[in-house]
Amino acid sequence: MTPKKILLLLAVLMLFSCNTSTKNNTTPKNVILLISDGTGLSQISSAFYFKETPSNYQRFQTIGLMKTSSSREDITDSAAGATAFAAGVKSYNGAIGVADDSTMVKNLVEIVSSKNIKTGMIATSSITHATPASFYAHVISRDFEEEIAVQLAESDIDFFAGGGLQFFNNRKDKQNILNTLTSNNFYIDTIGLTTLSSITNSKKAGYLLAKEGMDRISEGRGNFLPKATELGIQFLSKDNQPFFLMSEGSQIDWGGHDNDAPYLVSELIDFDNTIGKVLDFAEQDGNTLVIVTSDHETGGFTLASKKKYSTDGEEYDDYKEIEMTFSTTGHSASLIPVFAYGPGAEEFSGIYDNTAIFDKIMKVTNWE
Ligand code: MG
Ligand code: ZN
Repeated sequence: MTPKKILLLLAVLMLFSCNTSTKNNTTPKNVILLISDGTGLSQISSAFYFKETPSNYQRFQTIGLMKTSSSREDITDSAAGATAFAAGVKSYNGAIGVADDSTMVKNLVEIVSSKNIKTGMIATSSITHATPASFYAHVISRDFEEEIAVQLAESDIDFFAGGGLQFFNNRKDKQNILNTLTSNNFYIDTIGLTTLSSITNSKKAGYLLAKEGMDRISEGRGNFLPKATELGIQFLSKDNQPFFLMSEGSQIDWGGHDNDAPYLVSELIDFDNTIGKVLDFAEQDGNTLVIVTSDHETGGFTLASKKKYSTDGEEYDDYKEIEMTFSTTGHSASLIPVFAYGPGAEEFSGIYDNTAIFDKIMKVTNWE
């Protein structure tokens, strides 16, 4: 070989290795999507004022904003919101995994399971509630939780944890869907979370730990959400296969609907702790894309200044004290923040529609 040819060969080799390394740096192996139902910027801000330890939101470098309207309404609900994330289509409020014309749309779980990618769902609501359901089920109304339970048992989901036991074992049709789960290779637990060692030899694992929604943090739910999320990560990654995990802080939304600030903030802090656990894993792992977002804002929540009265009876705003206020018991239409970390994260900066979450996941992973 002439020196010229050797140089040329070296140049080609360098070009080739550069290409592969760029690809490896931006293509995540795993995706973890954390959804805080009903959480706008004020809810997130509350962690910066009322959480005793630093907020884990602060650990993100890449932040975007998302438009959340559904196909027929300016203000979305959780069903249409999660269907946008899970299938990349705008549908009507109440729709679970169906398009605006009620036809079935392929969801993330169906798309990736055929490629040997493991999937998991975690929620502090029932596991058949609108947000998790949109990732694996197809029904024209979110109210059909008994039908959604059947579809979960027959889905390709590998791991789930949450409430909703009654939709499996106390049904109008008297069927026991726990039997369906067991015959579809699920280890099922209705008592409490276990360690990985008790499920490591099971093909699939499911935890149904409340009749309907899980207890509130204030009622003793403890660290269920961060713990279940860690267990889910361990279980899904145990055979070194890629995985997709969705984990939801469901009850931030419920605190908003109740206009109950202490309820809302305690649920938000629990979700913030879950973000911390997931980022700890992703930092170690280096191959995991973490996306944190919400379907919509709930309550028109505000960190306002407290109204006070001076000694001569004059009203004034005390800027030294926050008063948490609400403007509605429903949802609102404000843009929703998106936080991303890990390979592919840069894709999530900018302002885009909620359906782009699905598109961007598919783009950066090459799963489709
Ligand atoms: Mg929800
Ligand atoms: Zn809601």
